[in-house]
Amino acid sequence: MEFETLCLHADDNKKDEWGTLTMPVCQSATFVHKGVGAPSEYSYSRLSNPTRAHLENTVARLEGGAAAVAFSSGMAAVTSVMKLFIGGHIIASEDLYGGSLRLFRNVNSAEGMSFDFADTGDIARVESLINKNTRAIYAETPSNPLMQVSDISALAHLAHKHNLLLIVDNTFLTPYFQRPLDLGADIVIHSGTKYLGGHNDTLAGFAVAKSQNLAEQIIYYAKTIGACLAPLDCFLIERGIKTLPLRMDRINDNAKKIAAWLRERKEVKKVYYVGFEDHASYNVSLKQSTGFGGMISFEVDSKELAENILRRIKIFQYAESLGGAESLITYPMLQTHADVPKDERERRGINDRFLRISVGIENVKDLTDDLRQAFRQ
Ligand SMILES: *Cc1c(COP(=O)(O)O)cnc(C)c1O
Repeated sequence: MEFETLCLHADDNKKDEWGTLTMPVCQSATFVHKGVGAPSEYSYSRLSNPTRAHLENTVARLEGGAAAVAFSSGMAAVTSVMKLFIGGHIIASEDLYGGSLRLFRNVNSAEGMSFDFADTGDIARVESLINKNTRAIYAETPSNPLMQVSDISALAHLAHKHNLLLIVDNTFLTPYFQRPLDLGADIVIHSGTKYLGGHNDTLAGFAVAKSQNLAEQIIYYAKTIGACLAPLDCFLIERGIKTLPLRMDRINDNAKKIAAWLRERKEVKKVYYVGFEDHASYNVSLKQSTGFGGMISFEVDSKELAENILRRIKIFQYAESLGGAESLITYPMLQTHADVPKDERERRGINDRFLRISVGIENVKDLTDDLRQAFRQ
């Protein structure tokens, strides 16, 4: 089956005895045993639930993994995957979702893990950081919010040469545009809150493992920690996935036009967008992904203009998050990256003139008109 069809029919054989077309919300905490020593397929919803199993099977097929585990948020997925490496050393992308950075630096480090952060696009640099305690490389590509791209197959090659695992956060491109497991990664992570759910209405997270053995280790931590996705949320994410390819195509088209529009503005100093031919890793993107996604960051020439844009914008919503049908704009300095130390943030260009947008599925003319009126002097 092709990807678009899988989004609708990946797990048709899991249907129930009533013949429901959609997988119902199986809102039961526990399941009745058939007899003594004869358990049902499901026993307790922290361990497994039919609605969740259906969604997990779908996501596993979309990413090409042996199994997927659905969590209550993206951060719950990252937290649970990190349990595989207790006491170990991890090399992670320096441009990373702020919550992952906070988890690694403030929580996992206090628990005895150690981290080095580097541009994971620089393979020699990553290799130089490997030590005898290193267990994994954790890459976000494209990265948040600077849109840096890492070569997934080169990282996988390096990881496996040193007996490490490669984990890729694939939230920004989704398996519709990029399939890290096919490129050699061992674990894919998602904030399902974003494009997979796609409607800004539910939090969710996923870990997808390439091998059954790795999947079982993740399932062990998932069921022990208990950050599992509730049945209704599973249903909503599954519904979102049905239209993932349609939404991603529209978002991809809209983003190309908006990035080009931004680049033409004299008040815009720099546009960060992986679809530009002069993006430093454009050729890597062409090699490993089939689209550029909907994330764009840009720097304007004054803090006043950045604030005015946020005040004046009408169709874009000034809100955290990304990946939904509605276009959003955020101020990373005050939001997603507020916990990154100021000098580090400034050094990387995440300053008071830096904004990030998540392009939605609205008509692109309305979006550029909205930006035009927000940019007015
Ligand atoms: C949002 C996000 C996360 C965290 O996911 P939540 O669902 O908000 O917990 C992790 N990685 C990336 C790239 C994200 O955008």
